[in-house]
Amino acid sequence: MFPSDLVSLLRGTPKLVALTGAGVSQESGLRTFRDSHPSPGSGQAGLWAQYKPTELASPEAFARDPKLVWDWYAWRREAVKGVRPNPGHYALVEIEKRAPQFILITQNVDNLHRFAGSQNVLELHGNIQRVRCADCYTFTETWDDDTETVPRCKECGGLLRPDVVWFGEALPRAQLEAAVEASRSCDVFFSIGTSGVVQPAASLAFAAHNRGAVVVEINAEPTPLTPKAEYVFEGKSGEILPQLVRAVWG
Ligand SMILES: [Zn+2]
Repeated sequence: MFPSDLVSLLRGTPKLVALTGAGVSQESGLRTFRDSHPSPGSGQAGLWAQYKPTELASPEAFARDPKLVWDWYAWRREAVKGVRPNPGHYALVEIEKRAPQFILITQNVDNLHRFAGSQNVLELHGNIQRVRCADCYTFTETWDDDTETVPRCKECGGLLRPDVVWFGEALPRAQLEAAVEASRSCDVFFSIGTSGVVQPAASLAFAAHNRGAVVVEINAEPTPLTPKAEYVFEGKSGEILPQLVRAVWG
């Protein structure tokens, strides 16, 4: 299934980078941000159906009604609790263990890579399981959710918010810079389960390609990156990645 020149290349201790997107989470049964938004119906989910995600996931929404936004994220955190990493997540953990240099960049906020055991993860869009102060950026592990109002920062009294990138917000600078640097200096760049259209993440693969890296795409369908990729595997990352690990390092 895997060309011998690709297997040899990966065995030759190059610098590896992988970018993952929504497709990897979908294989765990997690629906995409927009898909996961409830449709009008019964139960608690129905409560949120009257809002568009853009009306909840933005700094303006938080300024207007912080409790509404806080409660929506509490509901979403609860919704992802039953979701588990899939074999693709675990294969990326294996690659990190076996490759001398490996950096994982993800657009996913669901924490599944860390849950699976990946250590070196750049989270471009944040992490829904983390909470920080909206004013002073202090992270907090524990907060009182049983209140009428949004919990406040113990340091400065500011409102706590999820550590995710909202519509209209810039990506976390340090994470983005590290991702760009890793992409420009890697030998092999994996683009996995990502549509290749959400910027600036999509530009990372092109940056790697332009610097001479070998681009490997694993996705359910062709993307704008496909014509530039040296190797294209169409299918599920949860099936392809474990096979690749066995073929290269098994
Ligand atoms: Zn604070």
